[in-house]
Amino acid sequence: YKAHLLQRRTSYDALTGLPLRRILDESFDNTVVKFNQSGLYLFLLDIDHFKKVNDNYGHLIGDDVLRDFSRQLEAATRKSEPVYRYGGEEFIILLHAPDIEVASRVADRIRRSVAETEIYTAEHVLKITFTGALTRVYENEILHEVLERADGALYHGKQTGRNRCIYVDRRLNVLQRIEPAADIS
Ligand code: GH3
Ligand code: MG
Ligand code: MG
Repeated sequence: YKAHLLQRRTSYDALTGLPLRRILDESFDNTVVKFNQSGLYLFLLDIDHFKKVNDNYGHLIGDDVLRDFSRQLEAATRKSEPVYRYGGEEFIILLHAPDIEVASRVADRIRRSVAETEIYTAEHVLKITFTGALTRVYENEILHEVLERADGALYHGKQTGRNRCIYVDRRLNVLQRIEPAADIS
């Protein structure tokens, strides 16, 4: 039973209830085999200026925000598209989409919905944004490769203003698929 508890603690996040990086590591290869034919995209998300949330409102409110954010991501995705807490304020979603048009539309819909949602904490109402990196997962790729690509795109998104989704292809060309200005839909 102790071993079971330990396994749970290292597999699921106590704060948000989301599966952790470890589960992603362990399940990734099987997921790729199962879904890459029909289109699998890795979406890496990093909350913008999250340190400011902690600095301005305190760490406990920061925790509340992370919990709320996790629920928003779960609500915005299908059951078959798991949301992982990858690190502190970084999350990963594995999206099923036939092509990049569909995948980037989904990614940007999530981005917009988070940016518009008010988060109610004990004393404050706040809003957060995230920067996202989207890339296709190809057959026989290992997680590390995919993540390296996504990391580069995430960095690009942070450098170019945050609150945006950046798509990166296999040749490491980065592209902002949807302009923030074209948000009206
Ligand atoms: P950027 O837009 O460049 O991503 O800025 P940032 O402030 O989000 O990035 P940075 O990596 O500097 O800060 C991340 C912060 O997230 C710092 C860390 O204390 C906070 N954080 C990580 N995990 C938790 C957590 O579980 N709870 C709380 N409250 N804060 C956390
Ligand atoms: Mg970060
Ligand atoms: Mg951040």
